[in-house]
Amino acid sequence: MNGLYIHIPFCTKICGYCDFATVAGSARLFGEYVDLLLREAERRFGENPHFIRHLETAYFGGGTPSVLPPREFERLVLGLESLGVGFRHLQEVDWECNPDSATDENLQAAISLGVNRISLGVQTFDNELLKAIGRRGTAEQARDALRRILRLPDLSGKKIRSSADLMFWLPGQTLAGFERDVRELAETGIGHVSFYGLTLNPRTVLGMRFEQGKISLDEGLYARMYRSGVQILQDYGLERYEVSNFAKWGEESLHNRNYWRRGEYLGLGPGAHSFRGNQRLAAPSRYLEWKKWVLAGCLESKMEIDRLGKKERLCEKIWLSLRTREGLDLQTLDSEEVTQISCRKIDHWVRKGYLQKSGTKISLCGDGWLWMDSVVEDLIP
Ligand code: SF4
Repeated sequence: MNGLYIHIPFCTKICGYCDFATVAGSARLFGEYVDLLLREAERRFGENPHFIRHLETAYFGGGTPSVLPPREFERLVLGLESLGVGFRHLQEVDWECNPDSATDENLQAAISLGVNRISLGVQTFDNELLKAIGRRGTAEQARDALRRILRLPDLSGKKIRSSADLMFWLPGQTLAGFERDVRELAETGIGHVSFYGLTLNPRTVLGMRFEQGKISLDEGLYARMYRSGVQILQDYGLERYEVSNFAKWGEESLHNRNYWRRGEYLGLGPGAHSFRGNQRLAAPSRYLEWKKWVLAGCLESKMEIDRLGKKERLCEKIWLSLRTREGLDLQTLDSEEVTQISCRKIDHWVRKGYLQKSGTKISLCGDGWLWMDSVVEDLIP
């Protein structure tokens, strides 16, 4: 399966924990950015026409795609269509938005151009916590955006598919507060939820505060929040199909599933990653460097390229499969790869209750989901 990722790096304000390739408050760059993206697409699609012909999903991610004004978004979509991307025929076209820019005008423009799945960044319904983590927007805006999104039809008249993100382990967040957030979101009847524990990179505002001892986080609370969030979502029919993703039947993200299944994808925009053959490629992540790279013809030799050898491929297969409910089917590995995975280690994690075996498959279970990194690191040869 082939996926296209289109990065929209703009955000109205940089959140206190954000470590993505984003540019704050840059309305003057919107027009230039769309021109550059189309230039990159023309160049890179031209090198790989077969890939675009067999595209099945597209994902507008960020940054915040919803800050792009409808006329620029339309120009981008029509430009990509003229280069061969048939948005209206793809299985899934995702569009990320934030509550403060999920206006009716933006939502309608996205849907009329072929978007059929909307992901809303809620993070929490607690205004104090939103302030503490430096997020723009309020809980009321998130509730209002959710209500409107959940009523929207897609182009075929069916209810649009939707998802919302929550965060946990935020400074000052209590277990009860997080459970309230999860319950409130599940009560809306939404078909897909992602939740992520806060990660603190020392380069971010919150990361620096943590390093200076100005905020503290309780290690034990992380596990309690994760377990409890999973349980609440399950009670509402949202099953975990990946370590941080939960869906009702048929509501899983096809685009993200392609990443976990090691399907091919092509990323456009600063810092966007692509996966082709056994190579992982990344464009320059800083806006100005990316712009120079595009203007110089998007030379692949100037991208960061990671060529995966046998060992790296096996590590990826273990790492990516085990994050999903399906787990790792040992039958899909070649004979040399199978011999590299120690049965003794698998049995150790099965006895501990972190892994389960079913025929030729192994998958996480119990607290294995929480300690996935330790299990995977141990299994990786
Ligand atoms: S909205 Fe998302 S991408 Fe933008 S600054 Fe916040 S976390 Fe980063």
